Amino acid sequence: MGNWKALVVEDDPAIADFAEMILEKEGFSVRKAVDGADGLSQAFEWKPDLILLDLMMPGLHGLEVCEKVRAEAGMAGVRILITSSKCYASDFDEAKAAGADGYLTKPYGIAALTKKVLELVSAEGGAEPPAVVGPDAAVGGIETAESSREPSEAVVTETSDDKEVMVRFWGTRGSSPAPGPDTVRYGGNTSCTEVRFGDTLMVVDCGSGIRLLGDALAKEFGDRQIEGHLFVGHTHWDHIQGFPFFFPFYLKKNRFSVYSVHGAGKSLKTVFQGQMASDYFPVPLHNLACDLRFVEMEGPFDIGPVRVQYHFLNHPGVAIGFRFDGFGKSVAYISDHETHSRLNGDNELSLKQDRQLNDFLRGVDVLISEAQYTEEEYKIKKGWGHSTFKDVIERGLASEAKHLVLFHHDPTHTDKMMDGYLQECREAIHRVGSPLVCSAAQEGQVIRL
Ligand SMILES: [Zn+2]
Ligand SMILES: [Zn+2]
Repeated sequence: MGNWKALVVEDDPAIADFAEMILEKEGFSVRKAVDGADGLSQAFEWKPDLILLDLMMPGLHGLEVCEKVRAEAGMAGVRILITSSKCYASDFDEAKAAGADGYLTKPYGIAALTKKVLELVSAEGGAEPPAVVGPDAAVGGIETAESSREPSEAVVTETSDDKEVMVRFWGTRGSSPAPGPDTVRYGGNTSCTEVRFGDTLMVVDCGSGIRLLGDALAKEFGDRQIEGHLFVGHTHWDHIQGFPFFFPFYLKKNRFSVYSVHGAGKSLKTVFQGQMASDYFPVPLHNLACDLRFVEMEGPFDIGPVRVQYHFLNHPGVAIGFRFDGFGKSVAYISDHETHSRLNGDNELSLKQDRQLNDFLRGVDVLISEAQYTEEEYKIKKGWGHSTFKDVIERGLASEAKHLVLFHHDPTHTDKMMDGYLQECREAIHRVGSPLVCSAAQEGQVIRL
């Protein structure tokens, strides 16, 4: 490969070393970057011919790195190969839209990587790197004007002597709202959970349940300002469809920050602008009266007394779970997620990825975890990005959580069915002699710590 330069952007050192070994054998000169931000700065500075780019890394994710490289004028010839264990169709599409030249599923062997790399570098004759055909969206589609990347600057929140931690469920359903007489107890609204650490008001996801939370906050606060922090795990409909109906957004006195990571191909703010475009909703995003900020997180940070951390999940597109720690108590939220080893088999990488999630959740007081399918349903819905009850019990036990709350109920699961599933989960936990408490989220339910 003459003087070809390859940059391996990968947060798993064992995989990075493996790729380095293969590429050096093919004659590349190789450098390694430990995460997205490191990868981007090395790419700009070193100008490699080939970038092997992991998708889900701490800080900047692979799609965002890919877009930024494609937007850089001096780097038109670089070949970008995405390497990821994620194998959902939408991930392939998003990688292509971000400007990637190829996609290789992990774990890969020597032959597979060599073949893919040689295909890429020999395209168009090899000596002259081919012009990259990237979509317009990859250039200039990144918005930073009103988006902040420094969460710490504006998240100073009053703390209170009251150190109670409270979780309240306003929407418990996954995929689609499911109102009706058969879902009255567990609820028909889509995902929305309120989490308070003392006076610090946080909300996770804004499915249709957030409308009810908005009304309750309006009553509670009256003329006083509401300052709130909305965390969005991903922007599938069932996690954002209540956003335009959250009444406190329409009052000038209020102040909200919306946190997630950069979307696939567009900024977080752009996604919400799209949701409220005139084809879909009568009020554009910029007409919301409150002080509204969008924050694309790049690592852990603090909001008042609360440490906020996130972890990438295995779900089509970009999805993250959260962990909040404060006052010596903790709450985690994992939705939506398909256990790696269920989808990709018990290979070393999948087992490691499952372990990493369990480590992220280690010892948490309340683990709110999606539990969408029975084992029977999973047979036909494998690869849809969700967990079974059995997977979730294993997650709760392996992470040594204290209270597991089943969440993101399938729209076809009636109250009666949910009672039965919950009973089965409790029995399974009892059989292994674990003290893990298990409940299933019900709309309006409150948990206090
Ligand atoms: Zn969902
Ligand atoms: Zn989803």
